[in-house]
Amino acid sequence: MNSIKVNLDKRTSTSYEIYIGENILDRMGLILAKNNWASRYIMITDSNISTQYGERVQAILREMELKVDTIDFPAGEAAKNFETSLHIIEGMMDLGADRTSALIALGGGVVGDITGFVASIYMRGIPYIQVPTTLLAQVDSSIGGKTGIDLPHGKNLVGTFCQPKGVFIDLAFLNTLTPREFGSGLAEIVKYGIIDDAELFSALEVEAEEIRTRNMNLLEEIITRACRIKKGIVEIDEMEKGVRRILNFGHTIGHAIEAESHYSISHGDAISIGMVAAALISERLKYLRSEDRERIISLIRVLGLPDRIPKTLSSVGIVSRIKRDKKKAGDKVHFVLLKKIGIPFVNGSVPEPIIGDVIEALKE
Ligand code: ADP
Ligand code: ZN
Repeated sequence: MNSIKVNLDKRTSTSYEIYIGENILDRMGLILAKNNWASRYIMITDSNISTQYGERVQAILREMELKVDTIDFPAGEAAKNFETSLHIIEGMMDLGADRTSALIALGGGVVGDITGFVASIYMRGIPYIQVPTTLLAQVDSSIGGKTGIDLPHGKNLVGTFCQPKGVFIDLAFLNTLTPREFGSGLAEIVKYGIIDDAELFSALEVEAEEIRTRNMNLLEEIITRACRIKKGIVEIDEMEKGVRRILNFGHTIGHAIEAESHYSISHGDAISIGMVAAALISERLKYLRSEDRERIISLIRVLGLPDRIPKTLSSVGIVSRIKRDKKKAGDKVHFVLLKKIGIPFVNGSVPEPIIGDVIEALKE
């Protein structure tokens, strides 16, 4: 088992560990029992994970003499809302949860985001622990303390910054992920290589086949590396005021594609295309060499991720969504562009015709 310490500003948060390994839930039980974070735990999960893993995880924790109850809700992004938050809060009330209770988020990004949100507001805040079960949540959303729910107006519009007490990443969960879900996590891993770690990028090129076929030893190494990159960025910029923005590489156009497809395109597929678009824009503006752009496209392809926009999506629709991007400051859209693989920068002055041209060029 690997562990990584996240060191945070002591005035606002406490530091915590990320544990990574295959079949580490027994050790998690031990760590929870030893640390005495809470008098009892309430595990929050969705209907799928509850069926596949709920009983087993609960049994492991009970073996350590921990008191554990479970509250679940229907799987899917549509449940990441106020109604589900209230369902969880009322369930906690019915169970008699108080300020000495803690939550365990067992699931993907939806479960992690909503559990962190409820933990941050229940009785003015109680501790929570992340047990991410999707590759995407393991390398991205479970780390960094962003919590949130969606509104009809858009995703993640309500939420808090609230760090967990610990993150337990068990690779065994990855065996049951659909290829679509697995691909979403892979796309974020490619992103880390591109924005921070040219060596990771090269390793992904060399090991693409082993990664696709889910070689667990290799995945453990890669997930550890990805978590280290994310935690390094979060440490510098916990509240996303500056450098944390580079994590949005591929996401400006990616989010627009996701939304324009009414979420029929997965997050990972959308940001894969978004990363290709950002590389093309960087090349057109003469920041990035064509060899680097080609390497990015080849890696995305060999990992089985898409590099083209389906022709059924409207280019005009995508561009207008980019302009509405919630991360825009004033009337500028901030793009994360590249100087090379491993060297990103933020640019607020990409000419609109270039954005339109690149989107058109990426149409199938
Ligand atoms: P993310 O935002 O991390 O992609 P979600 O919370 O949206 O994840 O979950 C995506 C889907 O995958 C949900 O239907 C969820 O129940 C399911 N899921 C989560 N973890 C696993 C797993 N380990 N095995 C199989 N399905 C899973
Ligand atoms: Zn993402």
